[in-house]
Amino acid sequence: MIPVKGYKGQKVAVLGLGRSGLATAAALQAGGAESLLWDDSPESRAKAEAEGFILADLTRSSAFDGVAALITSPGIPHLYPVPNPIIARALAAGIPVDNDIGLFFQSAASAEWTEYETPPKVIAVTGSNGKSTTTALIHHILQVAGRPTQMAGNIGTGVLSIEPPLDGEVVVLELSSYQTELARALTPDVAVFTNLSPDHLDRHGGMGGYFAAKARLFTLGGPDRAIIGVDEVEGRFLAGQLAQGAADDRVIRISSGQKLEGFGWSVFARKGFLAEWRRGKQVASIDLRAVSGLPGAHNHQNACAAYAACRSLGLAPKLIEGALHSFAGLPHRSQLVGEKGGVRFVNDSKATNVDSAAKALQAFPKIRWIAGGLGKDGGIAGLAPWLSTVVKAYLIGHSARDFALQLGDTPHEICETMDRAVARAAAEAEAGDVVLLAPAAASFDQYPNFEKRGEDFAAQVKAIIG
Ligand code: ADP
Repeated sequence: MIPVKGYKGQKVAVLGLGRSGLATAAALQAGGAESLLWDDSPESRAKAEAEGFILADLTRSSAFDGVAALITSPGIPHLYPVPNPIIARALAAGIPVDNDIGLFFQSAASAEWTEYETPPKVIAVTGSNGKSTTTALIHHILQVAGRPTQMAGNIGTGVLSIEPPLDGEVVVLELSSYQTELARALTPDVAVFTNLSPDHLDRHGGMGGYFAAKARLFTLGGPDRAIIGVDEVEGRFLAGQLAQGAADDRVIRISSGQKLEGFGWSVFARKGFLAEWRRGKQVASIDLRAVSGLPGAHNHQNACAAYAACRSLGLAPKLIEGALHSFAGLPHRSQLVGEKGGVRFVNDSKATNVDSAAKALQAFPKIRWIAGGLGKDGGIAGLAPWLSTVVKAYLIGHSARDFALQLGDTPHEICETMDRAVARAAAEAEAGDVVLLAPAAASFDQYPNFEKRGEDFAAQVKAIIG
């Protein structure tokens, strides 16, 4: 645990008692603060009490008397569409509002760090898609390199629950826009921006607010090295704002598809090859086509981001290349779950929206596509340009009929359930086909979450191919 600094002997309110809220409360207490805990849900309050935490009713009018700060959880709106009433009252009373990420950056460094041979470093990853994959990949490469490393944030452990970093350790954090928007301190050594596409717009008051929330990771902390995906206008803008000029190698531009030659430092993937360029010269190249854990151009973008982050720590290209090959991929993200008779079965249950499903559809040449669930606004209309790889679609869940109407000439069949979809797709598949679960829809009509949906897919595949 990282004890929180700066609030010794003071009262700090904590709103939201999920995993990160309770970890925050414990870290505040370890740092000598008195934490006042509250959650709008009675179940969460009961759970916190059962774990020995003491509640304080933050809905009372005097709740913020003598309180130094309010720490909130990422799921609770602090601004748009409307602030949670407790946060609104704290803001009206002039109480600073922060989150566990801000507390982490305020507290992680300790006096011992000055005696370390290699002070610990923090790499923070944000972006609309690919955050988890890139974060896990950086962590994996560092493990292979034998560097002490911990991974936390939006993936796995809460940031304040990690162990205090050791000499030479690298902490890799995945940060969502909700987290970067609110944190009062954001000072990573290396910051990564993978890409930007519309998401969570209601929470950020539109695309500008969403981009600004992510850009804070770079503008607030001034990382030593900024790794920026420049395949959208926002990334190009951010890279341009941070660099003194094209030759400034504190910014490493990355791309999936574009050749980036005229910069101080760049890493890009084209036609299945990753290339690293420095000051007008190619210095390394890796064949990504043989890297089975990272299929498709979207994963090649993640590979470029992770490669750049590890290069900026001084790791050698050959070592990184070896580590890319041993990366198993994350569950539910373009994950190979079985292969029989030349047919591969790929689980991308995390493709809950059109954008991520589009990437999955571009990753393989001949696809038997399992899609459907609880469709988002517009259904799959946005996927029309990417259907040429689909041999046939097998539709499940609430949106099956709506998706069928939008598929037009693309062959399709309504299967309703996963077991039937997998059975039909497997029966019709030929060698070279990929049976791909990339639903382009939420899972909640048939499953508690996308993980359970992906596990069901994998279980059905196993039942059929053995
Ligand atoms: P995040 O943590 O940002 O949600 P994940 O790595 O969990 O990202 O991937 C989420 C979804 O987006 C998956 O369906 C995955 O296949 C897809 N995806 C992964 N990387 C990218 C990328 N660089 N660009 C677009 N989509 C991606």
